[in-house]
Amino acid sequence: MQITIDEAKCCGAGQCVLVAPEVFDQRDEDGIVVLLNASPDAAQHAAVREAATICPAAAIQVRE
Ligand code: SF4
Repeated sequence: MQITIDEAKCCGAGQCVLVAPEVFDQRDEDGIVVLLNASPDAAQHAAVREAATICPAAAIQVRE
């Protein structure tokens, strides 16, 4: 799995961080997403897919 994020789309909603806190964080200044791990291990995959699905800005792309 390879994850990419589009910071320009991110609206700082934080949904991804709630679902997959080991993969996503948010910048303190403005809440924009920070990708902690672009290729997480299998244990994280379901959470990452859910994060991509629920992101209101469609800012998370997942390549399997
Ligand atoms: S859920 Fe989407 S919009 Fe919200 S912080 Fe994460 S990437 Fe940004």
